[in-house]
Order: sequence, then C-alpha cells, then structure tokens
Amino acid sequence: MTEIAPWAAPAARRRLQEVAAAVTNRTGPTEVAETVRAALAAHRRQFDDEGIVLYAGTNVPSSAALAAYDPAVSTRPSMGWPGEKYQTGLDHLDTLEVLAPLLVAERMAGRFAEVRLPSATMANLAVYRALAEPGDTVAVLPEAAGGHASHHAYGAAGIRGLRVVDLPYDAGALGIDHAALPGFLRAHRPRLVVVGASLMLFPHDVARVRAAVDEVGATLVYDASHVAGLVATGLFQRPLPERAHVVTFSTYKSYGGPPGGCVVTRDERLAERISLAAYPGMLANYDVGRLGALAIATAELGTPAGRRYAERCAGNARAFAEALHDAGFAVTGAGRGFTRSHHVAVDAAGCGGGEAAAARLAAAGIYLSAIGLPGQGPVAEGLRGLRIGTQEVTRRGFGAEHLRVVAALMRHVLLDGTDPAEIRPEVVALRRSVSEKDSTD
Ligand SMILES: *Cc1c(COP(=O)(O)O)cnc(C)c1O
Repeated sequence: MTEIAPWAAPAARRRLQEVAAAVTNRTGPTEVAETVRAALAAHRRQFDDEGIVLYAGTNVPSSAALAAYDPAVSTRPSMGWPGEKYQTGLDHLDTLEVLAPLLVAERMAGRFAEVRLPSATMANLAVYRALAEPGDTVAVLPEAAGGHASHHAYGAAGIRGLRVVDLPYDAGALGIDHAALPGFLRAHRPRLVVVGASLMLFPHDVARVRAAVDEVGATLVYDASHVAGLVATGLFQRPLPERAHVVTFSTYKSYGGPPGGCVVTRDERLAERISLAAYPGMLANYDVGRLGALAIATAELGTPAGRRYAERCAGNARAFAEALHDAGFAVTGAGRGFTRSHHVAVDAAGCGGGEAAAARLAAAGIYLSAIGLPGQGPVAEGLRGLRIGTQEVTRRGFGAEHLRVVAALMRHVLLDGTDPAEIRPEVVALRRSVSEKDSTD
C-alpha cells in the first residue's frame, strides 16, 4: 500500500505507518468491521470512561440531545428550504429545519440563524464569502492571542483571498488595544473585523470595538466558537446586543450540541447574503440528522438548568485556576481573577512548553491542548501555554473539590517530575469516582 502522507511531519509519518502496518493485512469487510469496533471500544474506555478531558474545544451533549442525533437521517441527502426542497417525502424533517434556526436565533439574541453549515470554519468562510470580496482586508486577533486558523491567511480567510492583518493587542491587558484601534482601522480600512478567539478568558468590549469599526464602515464579526454555551445563557457576554453585526460559533464546544457551525445576526440584509453563501454557495445537500440534537441542546441552554450549567463551568474554571496557582503553576490572568469564562490558561514555559506538557499529561490520562499565549514569540516555534476548558468535566459532575485533586495530579506530572504512568491509576480512579451525571437534567 502507498504511504498516506509522505509530506507530513516526522511524528505523523511514524504514527501513520505504525497504524498502517497493523491494519493493512485485515481489509475484508468483516475484518475491517472488527478492527473498527475494537478501536472505538478502546477509545471509549480510554477517553470517555477513564480520561479526564480538559480539552477546551469539546463537550458531551446531554442524553436528550444525543438521543435525537440521528445518523440514519444524516446519511440521507436534503437540499433546499422546506417547501421548495429538491427531494420529496422529507416533510416531517421540516420540523427540525424550522425549530433549529428559530431556537438558535432566539437563544443568541439574534433574528436570523444559519444552522446548516458543518463547522464554524465553514461558518466563517460563509461570512467572508457573503460580506467581503477577494482582495479586501480582514482584521483579526493575532494567533498568539488565540486568533483561529479560520481567521488567518493559511485558513478560510486566505481561501476567500482576503488580506489578513492582526488587530492591535495588549498582551498585558489580555485584550484588544483600544487606544490604538481607531488609528489602526483608519490605516488598514478593513472590510471585516473579527474578534473572538480560541482562548477567551475575558469578554471583549464589543460596544467599544463596534464604535471604532463604524468609523471606517466595516462589519464586526464575533466568533463565539468556544464561549457559545456561555453566551447562550447570558453568562459571559451578549455579542449581538452589545452590537456585533454577526456572531459565528461551533455547536459542539461549550454549546454542547452535535458538530456544526452557526451564523446569527439581527440584520436581514446580512442574513440573506450569508444564507446564500451557505446554500447554494458552499453546500448542496446538508445534514438534517444533527438539527434535532441542535434544537434540543439550544432549548436546554435556555432553561434555569442551562444557566446553572454555565455558571458551574465558570465557577469550576475559577476554582481550578486558583488550585493550579496554589499548586505552583503560572496561571494566566493572575492579577484579574484568572478567568471569567470556562477557560483557564497556564504558562508551560517552565515545563518544556505547551506541546510537551500536554503529551506528559496525556500519558497520565489527562487530555488537553497547548495554546499560544499573548506576548509569546511566533506560534510556529511552539505554543507556550496549556489551555483548559471545564465544560466537559462540569457536565460529568466534577466540582471544585475534584478539580483541586486534578491540579495536584498535574503538579506531580509537570512540576515534580513524577512518571505519568504512576499517576494514571489515580486519574482513572478519580474519573470513575465522579458519577456521570447529566447536568442539564
Ligand atoms: C474551534 C474554533 C473554530 C472552528 O470550529 P470548527 O467547528 O471546528 O470548524 C473557529 N473559530 C474559533 C475561534 C475556534 O476556537
């Protein structure tokens, strides 16, 4: 057999070849089914049952949302609005296609929601397609401040042919440099300004950004991918009432829904253009099988229990940050209460950098990722931080008392130099001791 990606980095090539060697002489349908079943079972055990997942960009949907996520419907094509759909016989599914955008728009304090895109990257691309022309400038957060690939030239913004400039950022204040912003915008005349990032410890001053954006006639996009679940409950900030023109987000991070991307706005003119960019621009058939789950996850976020979930996520983040600080870690935002969201960031420069620290923790059964930190050097040279999200462990029933234990285990692995294999049984025992409870029930 051929090599999958001879152009990949050495670590990836090694792993791809190692796995290929184990599977390539078992390619009949029964053997493949067995191999796949075994891999999924082992994954479920390692990650879901025994792992402590602190990865910020994931979640477990509620049991009600998960039960409504219908793979049999996902495998079926569906194209066009209810009432003028290309296929016939799908009219009962119209209910899902109507519920999901109505609920999402209301929950995010908008009027129009485009829910058909498969990811937030595609949602951002649809916005670029709808609201900018090739050659236009888009101003985004720097990568070291969590600016996402889909905002940058090598990602979706580049695919639309946009010129990307980094917004002025104050690394000390962990936010946009508002003093420099008006002059910057006058100099670069961007068509779009994108705020929101993959690390969101503190809210943006959206109204203040909007005032500067209005002076140059640009459109303000708030990428709420990570914080959408908190935004939906009103806990973190409300970008549309605070006057962002457009909000985009991932539905599977703090939001706790199926995979997907949404775009929400109050402006009918923008909504129409974004809708046409999504369909028939970027999509032909789209996945209706996840829209029921999206509707349920959205409705749950609108209840008092949804609000309590968001409050627990943020409370857990604050408690975890304090515990990590007390354990000897350099936690970002120490002077400002560490975090106002479900995110926590740790400076891992003293533990070999973010990637190496994440790998050591993974060997102990604690899963998270590296992240660039504001003020660090180029992210291509390595990520200085560790990013933590509390949205999954909170749903699984972890509280501050459990997270203090996790902080101590992380100290053993990263600061005391204990072999991760020695710590893993304690991680598994802690994970198993926290009864899995669905916090939206
Ligand atoms: C995760 C993320 C995305 C991309 O989300 P996908 O749904 O995985 O495409 C976009 N923007 C930001 C800020 C993100 O953190």
